[in-house]
Amino acid sequence: VTTTVSGVLAANWAGNVVYGASAVHSPSSLDELCALVAGSPRIRAAGTGHSFSRVADTDGALVRLDSLPAEVTVEPGSSTAVVGAGMRYAAVNAALHAAGWALANLASLPHISVAGCCATGTHGSGDGRRCLAAAVTGLERVGPDGTVSWISRGEAGFDGSVVALGALGVVTRLRLEIEPAFEARQLVRLDVPLDEVAESFDEVFGAAYSVSVFTDWRSATTSVWLKQRVDRPAGAWRGGRAAVEQMHPVPGTPAGFSTLQLGVPGPWHERLPHFRPEFVPGAGEELQSEYYLPRAAAPAAIAAIRELGESVASVSHISEIRTVRGDELWLSPAYRRDCVTLHFTWIHDEAAVRPVIEAVERRLRPLGARPHWGKLTALSPAELAGCHERIGDFARLVAERDPEGKFGNAFLDAMLAGPRLRR
Ligand SMILES: Cc1cc2nc3c(=O)[nH]c(=O)nc-3n(C[C@H](O)[C@H](O)[C@H](O)COP(=O)(O)OP(=O)(O)OC[C@H]3O[C@@H](n4cnc5c(N)ncnc54)[C@H](O)[C@@H]3O)c2cc1C
Repeated sequence: VTTTVSGVLAANWAGNVVYGASAVHSPSSLDELCALVAGSPRIRAAGTGHSFSRVADTDGALVRLDSLPAEVTVEPGSSTAVVGAGMRYAAVNAALHAAGWALANLASLPHISVAGCCATGTHGSGDGRRCLAAAVTGLERVGPDGTVSWISRGEAGFDGSVVALGALGVVTRLRLEIEPAFEARQLVRLDVPLDEVAESFDEVFGAAYSVSVFTDWRSATTSVWLKQRVDRPAGAWRGGRAAVEQMHPVPGTPAGFSTLQLGVPGPWHERLPHFRPEFVPGAGEELQSEYYLPRAAAPAAIAAIRELGESVASVSHISEIRTVRGDELWLSPAYRRDCVTLHFTWIHDEAAVRPVIEAVERRLRPLGARPHWGKLTALSPAELAGCHERIGDFARLVAERDPEGKFGNAFLDAMLAGPRLRR
């Protein structure tokens, strides 16, 4: 049964974007979805609404996939699994683990949809860890005429079709690389000077399989979260002092929602994210921005934000520094470069935060920053397009696949207008 809610104002998780959708649909079969797409003049897939930017907004219909059958089919011969696009990572992870398999990398929160994460270049951390979309070897999508097709790695246009911002159709299933399940342990180092992180960047981020550094930019100190696979050697770096109790990334916040730390080994999906799958956060009291910079710019980027110190600290809860390995996906912010990422969890006050975002971007843009597609930026659509060297190829792909702009929205249309004109 298709649930169609007309005239309902749906909003994103943070509540800072009220979608302009005329209707929200939840088809319960692929056939229904295809008929819906074919019959809609303008339609856009929604994930779990965790983006802070207007990337998921639409002036047409929104379609949610959470009523489609959930699917996790392991294909052991090829170390891949086919998963339902609208599923949350928490559900996919649990099914894979139960079958003895794992994903190499996860974001901080497991409650976000697979398709939504892959569409925006969402990432976790680790010198060898690519963004989550880089694990996609194929995807099934419904095109503007309602037909279903697969596109796989190696085929023309695939590298533009994964981090695709919803512009190329409604993705219904994804084929993901998997590997045998593994265990990891999590250790937190406290009172690590920010100077040490900047000066010994390779040692700090080489200390574990996945490393996250949290700071407020005011205290000049950090806490460093080390997520170490038990089956791989750890790096030598151990600065600061060991935490002797469970921590939350935001100091002073109860740590019960954090995944288990203190060096206790556990399954990959209960250590790689910062937050437990059984804790489902309600509407967020925060906004976020994040920038991917060339890894070599890490010391300069840290110095630049440190200069802003108090003005950033006064409107933010916490900041996180991570690393991401480069990939080949055209719109990935880590396209063809290993990155350091600087993330800001802001207070929920866009007017107060906006001038600080502008100040952050004035400092980070000359260093080669590319904003996260799903988070807040003060860049104009043309400036945003200018951050991505393959934006022209992407505009061409969109024009071929969706000539009428059925899957477009104001965010995309504005950003692709320049590259389209230059085609
Ligand atoms: C608390 C919190 C923690 C976060 N942690 C991280 C983190 O650790 N790392 C990180 O990089 N980001 C992080 N993010 C950002 C988040 O991962 C991205 O915004 C992501 O896109 C959200 O996925 P979603 O399913 O909510 O997508 P939505 O916001 O619903 O949609 C995002 C885009 O995906 C498209 N889309 C969704 N489903 C489909 C589909 N089936 N077919 C085609 N297109 C589709 C939409 O059209 C839209 O363009 C976090 C956000 C929050 C709120």
